[in-house]
Amino acid sequence: MNKDIATPVRTKAILDKYGFSFKKSLGQNFLIDTNILKRIVDHAELTETSGAIEIGPGIGALTEQLARRSAKVLAFEIDQRLLPILEDTLSPYENKKIINSDILKADVHKAIAEEFAGLDDIMVVANLPYYVTTPIIMKLLEDKLPIRGIVCMLQKEVADRIAAKPGTKDYGSLSIAIQYYTVAETVMIVPKTVFMPQPNVDSAVIRLIKREIPAVAVKNEEFFFFVTRASFAQRRKTLLNNLTSQLPNGKEKKEQILAALEQVEIDPGRRGETLSIEEFGKLSDALYPYFE
Ligand code: SAM
Repeated sequence: MNKDIATPVRTKAILDKYGFSFKKSLGQNFLIDTNILKRIVDHAELTETSGAIEIGPGIGALTEQLARRSAKVLAFEIDQRLLPILEDTLSPYENKKIINSDILKADVHKAIAEEFAGLDDIMVVANLPYYVTTPIIMKLLEDKLPIRGIVCMLQKEVADRIAAKPGTKDYGSLSIAIQYYTVAETVMIVPKTVFMPQPNVDSAVIRLIKREIPAVAVKNEEFFFFVTRASFAQRRKTLLNNLTSQLPNGKEKKEQILAALEQVEIDPGRRGETLSIEEFGKLSDALYPYFE
């Protein structure tokens, strides 16, 4: 077996060899603990017939572990300076493909079709760049990729919001947006000391397993997400106040909003944070005829 990339000594040697300097603006905090990496990969439950997609391979610390535990790894890296380094560090592994691209601009459907032919279990596994965590996760879900799920490192505070249950302080439109598509669970809390350089925030690993069908069936997805965002616009306001101030012509349509709330038996005085995803589904369907 080749020597692991993710040790402090080897990482430092690689960085020195190439004179690499970290770009904070790209969220470059590399993992230097092989045990943590192995545990992250364990949570993805890969087999020798799985395809793994990585976002931001850095110098290849996680890519290497994924290459050892899957049929093939496809990694998207925005920073061109890392390409020659990855070429070198991952040279022992044939089953990898690095694409020099911003993941937010990449055609991931096309890349999957080209690189993962014949593989029917695809997981995204990543130590995400923290400046852009939520847009990346939302793109992966909204693009409706043929993936089983996502296991990723991110800021603990964001993980808490993603996995939050109704009635808690962290529950909000992000929890609903992600739990609509997936079953979300925080699986690891990770100390700052396993990164080089150390980030300013605490980290966690979250596992998102895609639902076969969304958590609720709604008449119009876009309107459903609009209603959930509107309901949390000001957390201390009641549902009725948020809906009348956020929905188009909401003030003039107060009677209709009240009628919709009554129809689905939701007290207008409740706060958005107390509603389950099913209740938001029913509410948005009841409101939809008045706003379509
Ligand atoms: N996977 C490596 C590890 O765990 O050590 C590096 C993780 S580091 C937190 C994030 C990586 O994402 C960096 O390599 C950074 O250059 C890359 N990156 C940042 N923004 C990106 C984007 N929009 N698309 C693709 N890669 C990005």
